[in-house]
Amino acid sequence: MILRLWPGTPEARVAAITAMLETSGVRTSRSPEMNRPIIATLDKVDSELAGRIDALDEVESVVHPVGEWRRVDSSFRDGPSVVRVGGVPVGGGSVVVIAGPCSVETPEQLDDAARCAQKAGAHILRGGAYKPRTSPYAFQGLGQEGLHLLKEAGLRYGMPIISEIMDAAQLPAFLDHDVDCLQIGARNMQNFTLLKSVATARRPVLLKRGLSATIKEWLQSAEYLAAHGCDNVILCERGIRTFEPATRNTLDLTVLPLMQQWSHLPIMVDPSHAAGIPGLIPPLSRAALAAGADGLAVEVHARPEDAKSDGGQALLPGELAGLVADARVYAAVGGRHLAQQLPRPVARPTGG
Ligand code: PEP
Ligand code: MN
Repeated sequence: MILRLWPGTPEARVAAITAMLETSGVRTSRSPEMNRPIIATLDKVDSELAGRIDALDEVESVVHPVGEWRRVDSSFRDGPSVVRVGGVPVGGGSVVVIAGPCSVETPEQLDDAARCAQKAGAHILRGGAYKPRTSPYAFQGLGQEGLHLLKEAGLRYGMPIISEIMDAAQLPAFLDHDVDCLQIGARNMQNFTLLKSVATARRPVLLKRGLSATIKEWLQSAEYLAAHGCDNVILCERGIRTFEPATRNTLDLTVLPLMQQWSHLPIMVDPSHAAGIPGLIPPLSRAALAAGADGLAVEVHARPEDAKSDGGQALLPGELAGLVADARVYAAVGGRHLAQQLPRPVARPTGG
C-alpha cells in the first residue's frame, strides 16, 4: 500500500510511522516528492497493522495500486514525473521527438541522419550500436565504434543520444561514451538481471514494452529499475504481437490514457516498430500525441534502400520534418508543448 501523509506532517511523525512498519518486518520506500511525505510498503501488511495505520491522523489516504508495483505508481508522486535526457525534459507537458537510424552504420550515414534529425526539429538522436536481430546472420551493429560515432554526431548537432544496451557487460562502454539515455529493447524488457545492472548507472532509461508483455508486466519491469536506483524511467509503447499480420505489430494506444492513470512515468510511442510501414507513421504519430503520448521515437534514413536494418520502415528526411511540424500542433491539442531543441553548437574552424 501507499500512505499519503498530509502536507506539513512533521518529520518526527514520518519517522515514527516508518518505524511502526519496519519493526513489524515491513520494508518501506519514501517518495522523493517534496510537497508531502509519501511512504510505500514493500512487504505485505497484516490487517491489524493496516487498521492501526489507517486510523492515524497524519494519513490523508491509503492507496492500493492495481498491481505489485509501488515506486512507479501514480500515487507515489503528486503529479507526472519529468525525466531529463541531456538537457531535454520529457513528460509533464514537454513533448519530445527521438529520431535517428535503426543502426549506426557508417560515419556518413549517421551524419546524414543526425543532420536531418536536427534540422527537422527532433530533440534526441537515436542509433543502435548493439542490435537485437532475429537472424544471427543479420547485421549485429558496430558495437563500441557505433557508440563512438553516435557520441560524436550528438556533440556535432547538439543532441543528447540514446542507444540500446543488450548486456550488462556493455555498460562501461555506454558510460565511457556518455550515452544520455539507455534503451532497454522489447526483447529484454523482462531481462531482470539486465534491468538491475542498468539501474545502478542512474542514467535515464527508455523501457520499451515487450513484444507480448501485458501492461502490468511492463510496469513491474519499470519497478525493477526504480527499486534498483533508477528514478528516471521513460516508458515506450512500440506495438504488440497480435493475430494481425498486415502490420509489423499492433500499436496499442489504449495504454496511453491507462498508464497516465496508473503511473507517474512519462510514456512515449514508437510508431516505426509498431507499424513497420513508413506511410502509417505520420497518422499513428498524430493519434499517439492526441491520446496523450509524451513524445515519439522514429527511425530515419537518407537512403532506406541501403539500410543495414529496418530500412523498410525508415522515414525519409523530408517526411521527418513534416512529422515534427505535426507533433507541434498535436502536442498542443492536449494543452502540452513541443520541447525546445538544445542549441546546435557553433562549428569550430578546423586546421591552422
Ligand atoms: C530498435 O529501437 O531499433 C528496436 C530494436 O526496437 P524494439 O526493441 O522495440 O524492437
Ligand atoms: Mn529498428
